[in-house]
Amino acid sequence: MNKKLGLLLCLAIFFMGTLTNAQNDQKPFKVVIDAGHGGHDSGCLGSRSKEKDVCLSTALKLGKLITDNCPNVKVIYTRKTDVFVELYRRAQIANTNKADLFISIHCNAAENHSAGGTETWVMGLHKSEANLAVARTENAAILKEKNYENNYEGYNPNSPEASIIFSLYSNAYLSNSILLANKVQKNMVNTNHFVNRGIKQAGFWVLYKVAMPSILIELGFLTNAENERYLTNDANQNAMATAIYSGFVDYYNTVMNKNLETTPSTPLPVTETPATTEPETPKPQQNSETQQPSPLIPVKTFTNDVHFKVQFLSSPKKIALTDPKFKNIPEVSCYYENSLWKYTAGDEPTQAGAATILQEVKKVYGDAFLIAFQGDKKITVSEANALLKK
Ligand SMILES: [Zn+2]
Repeated sequence: MNKKLGLLLCLAIFFMGTLTNAQNDQKPFKVVIDAGHGGHDSGCLGSRSKEKDVCLSTALKLGKLITDNCPNVKVIYTRKTDVFVELYRRAQIANTNKADLFISIHCNAAENHSAGGTETWVMGLHKSEANLAVARTENAAILKEKNYENNYEGYNPNSPEASIIFSLYSNAYLSNSILLANKVQKNMVNTNHFVNRGIKQAGFWVLYKVAMPSILIELGFLTNAENERYLTNDANQNAMATAIYSGFVDYYNTVMNKNLETTPSTPLPVTETPATTEPETPKPQQNSETQQPSPLIPVKTFTNDVHFKVQFLSSPKKIALTDPKFKNIPEVSCYYENSLWKYTAGDEPTQAGAATILQEVKKVYGDAFLIAFQGDKKITVSEANALLKK
């Protein structure tokens, strides 16, 4: 913790020196931080926690990091206290402020208490029933509003047909949303070591309505005992806020360098994360109101939540994912099994995808091999392939 605080302090001092000169005369980049739920809408419930509290606490920590370290970035909150804010209001706040980015923070829940992990959502049409279910649960916040019929163009989250409205969504901001989602998701799972549930698409009302790149992060599952323990701890919330913050900074650098003729003399430093090969990140677009809709960029879709990875190392001692030995290994994550920490590369929806990564990893770790998960449960590769055919 002290080490982390020290690092943050160093970063803060560094930013002040580098940013103020370069960016004094630019108009601020505005980011809206949206803590899910609030007031009489608790969101989902853990055994001893409420989604609204975890979201708010993490959102405030994220906002503080940005405010303290990025003088040219203006943070706008949809809520800073435990109050109820209608979904349409959240989008309105972002749109009337002409924000450049919208980050919504939520937690997940499932009847199956072994389900856990982090996922990041971008707006789109759902590709599976499971995706639709998550979006529907979050959209159900609408039902906690008085007179909700008037504010949502007749949309009713309980009606299966209603999600057709989301097919009207223009993809103008999708590639930047995916760019941010990739960066945040990678940093999050490298920090909390939860199952990487990937980047997904579905019709979330709040993402549908905001006219800017946007993501919705499901930090983890409050119904999973381990996830809940982690998510409700103050230091861990700081760590997750830092992970989102690093993703944001990385995104900011990429987009602003691309967009501005005068780029900041020194890019914002990114909190150290493992040197991974960047997943196929789309080229950032101009963030202007005149931009044309971009073609749909494929998002990794995990059928039946099946993930293929490459295991390359086991250790009785936990090794930081930032360790230099993981340099050049893509998407490193770890899991704990039989008293050993096991380190994996890649996170692919198919065996073929993971096999390509295996070839790369074998150049460094000759005895690397393929493994598979369904959610956070380890399964055999043949079981995984069978699940894909279901
Ligand atoms: Zn939620």
